[in-house]
Amino acid sequence: MNEDPREKLNYDATFSCIQCGSCLPACPTYKTMGTETQSPRGRINLVKMAAEGKITLDELKEPIDLCLGCRACERVCPTNVAYGKILDSAKVALNEHEQVSVKKFQEDIYYNQVFSKKNVMGAGANLLWFYQKSGLRSLAEKTHLNHLLPESIATFEEILPSVSSPLHRHHRPDRIEPKQTPRYKVGFFKGCIMDALFDRINDLGMRLLAAGGCTVVAVDGQTCCGALHHHGGRTQQAKELAKQNIEAFETEAFDYVINTAGGCGAMLHEYPELFADDPSWEKRAEAFAARSIDISELLARLDLPVEKEIRKRVTYQPSCHMTNVQKVVDEPKQLIHSVRGIDFRELDNPDFCCGSAGIYNVVHFDESMKILDVKMGDVKARNPELIVTTNPGCLLQMKAGIEREGLQDHVRAIHLVELLAAACGLEDEDK
Ligand code: SF4
Ligand code: SF4
Repeated sequence: MNEDPREKLNYDATFSCIQCGSCLPACPTYKTMGTETQSPRGRINLVKMAAEGKITLDELKEPIDLCLGCRACERVCPTNVAYGKILDSAKVALNEHEQVSVKKFQEDIYYNQVFSKKNVMGAGANLLWFYQKSGLRSLAEKTHLNHLLPESIATFEEILPSVSSPLHRHHRPDRIEPKQTPRYKVGFFKGCIMDALFDRINDLGMRLLAAGGCTVVAVDGQTCCGALHHHGGRTQQAKELAKQNIEAFETEAFDYVINTAGGCGAMLHEYPELFADDPSWEKRAEAFAARSIDISELLARLDLPVEKEIRKRVTYQPSCHMTNVQKVVDEPKQLIHSVRGIDFRELDNPDFCCGSAGIYNVVHFDESMKILDVKMGDVKARNPELIVTTNPGCLLQMKAGIEREGLQDHVRAIHLVELLAAACGLEDEDK
């Protein structure tokens, strides 16, 4: 007999919530939607009620779907409620409960045949390059054909970066040696979306690490981190991807495994949780997670040749998963401060999610834009010329925010790696 999907709900964890409401002001969906069911406390109660059979899983679905998974609520909770675990359990239960549907079929294709397949992501990047460089994109703009796209797709189509040519991709180095005696040997985790759309940032990240004295190796056989699968309730697929990455980075003795994407980094950090019931993999996952760190954590410890002055007003939009899961808060700001000439302007509420949240901004476009509008209010009050981020999703979302506010002539969103590469003379920051 099939197991009741409600058995998957993490009922026990819901009892840590004492209903104090301290998490409500930190929750972006509570702020923009204003209802208890779209708050952390409300969602925890609903999970408890679903586990007790007081509401159906269908009634649980919308509040869970509309949660960003930013985990800002965990950070402020006085009883350390494991909200992420409660949320993930709800996603698993809902995924098992959902009958065959067109939406589920489409999602399965994206999860199983796109993000997790390096060659498919590469082919997608090549197609995008052709679309951008062949004149098709300009034609679509001139003939207003792009207006036929759904608003969510059109918004992000406009702000996609120029992707590298297939030839350039083919010749990217997968190993860089430093000029000096190596201080560390690091594996470089490329990610799927990060490397398809922002391979230039990954390449700059590898060069920065080498400039700081590291041997850097982008090992073969690595794949998507599995975050989208895991947070979409597809635990088995996330486990398979995790195993592939763990094995790939075991092929050489690395001091660290470095990533440039806050969301991916959080997933790598939490690999041991995927294998809590599998002792043969748990130890390997723990060893892998212990070495997996965000690039800013290592760059802050290296002697980077930060020599060029950058006279710009700069603000920093942290990745929620970097802050709330990896707990990396100070290093990116330390690195920004290390660049001479920068006028740093901290956001009033940096921990408020930008609304990107994986593919939330595409799937829940309207809700995401309301959250982005709150974030952009904070950004505009700081009047920056550069918005620095540490995650591809946040980077695209901030670019969307700049367009939405009509600030594109004097504000740019860049990755921290791009700023540092410019300050170290590896590349012009206006590129
Ligand atoms: S802060 Fe923690 S204990 Fe308080 S309502 Fe929110 S989740 Fe529950
Ligand atoms: S994860 Fe973020 S959006 Fe979801 S309940 Fe917590 S604070 Fe709100």
